[in-house]
Amino acid sequence: MKLRPHHLLCLQKYTGRGYDGPFTAHMNELVRRLTADPQEPVQLTQGRDDVCAACPHLVDGRCASQEKVTHMDRGVLEACGFAYGQVDSWRALAVSAENKIFQTEQFNEICGSCQWIELCRDTRKGWIDGNEA
Ligand code: SF4
Repeated sequence: MKLRPHHLLCLQKYTGRGYDGPFTAHMNELVRRLTADPQEPVQLTQGRDDVCAACPHLVDGRCASQEKVTHMDRGVLEACGFAYGQVDSWRALAVSAENKIFQTEQFNEICGSCQWIELCRDTRKGWIDGNEA
């Protein structure tokens, strides 16, 4: 699976709400896949990824909120010491993002401008191992 760095955050806090029906159905499928196999290899990608593929904000192959999401992607790379092109299991990448971002002040720093942040704050723990808390 190819993921932009900040989607390591969005996916593990996902609770079934998204931009529209097709996007949500697509997210449900990605979450089902990663829950079934947390060892699935994920490559950190710059630009359009497997989440963006069904997003209504993808226009001509580019995110309509490019500036905002680029800031979030860079923040995740820096906070976790990741690099574009890096491949590791979903679980390893997501756990690192959980520990280095959701458990620290980086959460506000990186996600502060996102429309979903209150929802993510209310989701105490993600479902990395298939156990939503
Ligand atoms: S196109 Fe933009 S808003 Fe849509 S999923 Fe991708 S990064 Fe997020």
